Amino acid sequence: SIAYLNGEYLPLEEARISPLDRGFLFGDGIYEVIPYYNGKSVGLMPHINRMINGLSIIEIKNSHTADEWKTLLDDLIAKNSDLGENLGVYVHISRGTDTKRNHAYPENVEPTIFCFAFGIKSPEPADRTKVHQYSLISTEDLRWQRCHIKSTALLGNVIHYQEGHSSGNDEALLYNAKGELTEGSSCNAFIVKDGVISTPIQDNQILPGITRRIIIDSIKADGSLKLEERTVTMDEVRNADEVWVTSSSKEIAPVTKLDGKPVGNGEVGEIWEKAFNIYTAAKFDY
Ligand code: PMP
Repeated sequence: SIAYLNGEYLPLEEARISPLDRGFLFGDGIYEVIPYYNGKSVGLMPHINRMINGLSIIEIKNSHTADEWKTLLDDLIAKNSDLGENLGVYVHISRGTDTKRNHAYPENVEPTIFCFAFGIKSPEPADRTKVHQYSLISTEDLRWQRCHIKSTALLGNVIHYQEGHSSGNDEALLYNAKGELTEGSSCNAFIVKDGVISTPIQDNQILPGITRRIIIDSIKADGSLKLEERTVTMDEVRNADEVWVTSSSKEIAPVTKLDGKPVGNGEVGEIWEKAFNIYTAAKFDY
């Protein structure tokens, strides 16, 4: 696997950073994961723009234009074609390496830029009987109030993910102190009731997911399904006909079990299949 570190391409296992890097000491950085299927990316420019926006929010210097980022990532994918047909690229930018451990943003440091590619699985079949069915737990969202920033400081997410994982489930669905759905520990969330799709509004409680965005935009452009961005309560989640979780790696994953109980009739829903087909037909256009 060929990685990119601060302007150089090198074998991943040879990449080295300083322990004084603020990414290591403070989780002070921004990251992205972007999928490529047979060399074609999904949401590359939206991912790059979210990353540039995140850098600007936390005042990390961005040394590349969006087009330069695109070239860099496309090149890294091309250099890693031996890893398989379907690849993900991980991009990590930390504030850089200081000379001491100090909370204040250091002046005149160069951000650390690290990227590597890895094999990912092929998309799931658009078949209600064959697709992997997700089993989730729900738990109160105890992360921070800046979930719109795609920070490398993922301990809050990791703890919630582990709650799901260690109990034999695929993910943890999170809700705030008011009992309103936020998102999953590594994915956004949607519900379906009586044919209407709903997903929480994009605010500081959730990551502005690129998959979420592509789903909303492609469903609106298609016009055959109803979709609302609004507050969704956990009572609604528990009474939903369908629940989905979405991310760049999961695409649209149907959830058929929540806290040990079936979601809806316990089978993958027909709106899932329609939405997945609309998404699949449109995803390379974003
Ligand atoms: N929410 C969280 C907390 C995530 O970690 C992710 C995936 N990294 C998502 C949502 C989904 O985002 P995307 O569709 O851009 O992969």
